[in-house]
Amino acid sequence: MLMGANSVKVMDKSKEKGKKKIGDTARNVPEEMVTVYIMGKGYRVPAEATIMGAIEYAGYQIKRGAGCREGFCGACGTVYKLPGDYKIHTGLACTTLVQDGMLLAQLPFIPNEKPAYDIDSLLPDVTAFQKVYPEIFRCVACNTCTKACPQDLQVMDYIQTAMRGDIEKTMDLSFDCVSCGLCAIRCPAEIVQFNVGILAKRLYGKYLAPESPELGQRLKEMKDKKYNTEYMEMKGMSYEDLKTLYYDRDSE
Ligand code: SF4
Ligand code: SF4
Repeated sequence: MLMGANSVKVMDKSKEKGKKKIGDTARNVPEEMVTVYIMGKGYRVPAEATIMGAIEYAGYQIKRGAGCREGFCGACGTVYKLPGDYKIHTGLACTTLVQDGMLLAQLPFIPNEKPAYDIDSLLPDVTAFQKVYPEIFRCVACNTCTKACPQDLQVMDYIQTAMRGDIEKTMDLSFDCVSCGLCAIRCPAEIVQFNVGILAKRLYGKYLAPESPELGQRLKEMKDKKYNTEYMEMKGMSYEDLKTLYYDRDSE
């Protein structure tokens, strides 16, 4: 959802004084500007801006459809067209760079069908998909979902493996899905691919993943209150001290 932009034909905000801009040089003027069209209105924006950066540079506030801004959360699915190209392209607004003449339309939210299910009543085979997402059997293997995926996942392939009841392969192929929903809005069979992937991951985690002795050991230690002294210490720490502790931790 976009709020509060100006409504002139082509706005060039690089001419405004004293305002920080994306792609600013030492002289506070972006080196190269391009024209993009946001909801049909033209704006001059820095050539190296992301779609999200360009929308904000143009004066809009993104109230919905933005999250981590790093390409991980999948909240900022967007569609755009390029000049001289009939295709509707898809991408994440926070990681896709603008191009001159782009026609942009930010998607605030992608509604999708998400039935409730009891994982304990499902089996880790094709019957789970037959029961919860029977529409996957309407897949016509057009591969449109794969072409729409900003994560470059083989989306059609994981729908096909789900149809064969291969839980592990479906989990594996959909593992890096960020649930942006762009595959679902392009699917002619109205399949919500990312929810199918989530079901596969849940089934795999519950029924098929090998047990981790390390995890079991750690859970036992927690039940035995082995770390309670440290927890209590942390609960009494200030925000700044907690931050220092977090960033100074050992990590791979
Ligand atoms: S599989 Fe679909 S929901 Fe997941 S990242 Fe790709 S396009 Fe987005
Ligand atoms: S877009 Fe839909 S119908 Fe086409 S391959 Fe993907 S899941 Fe199947």
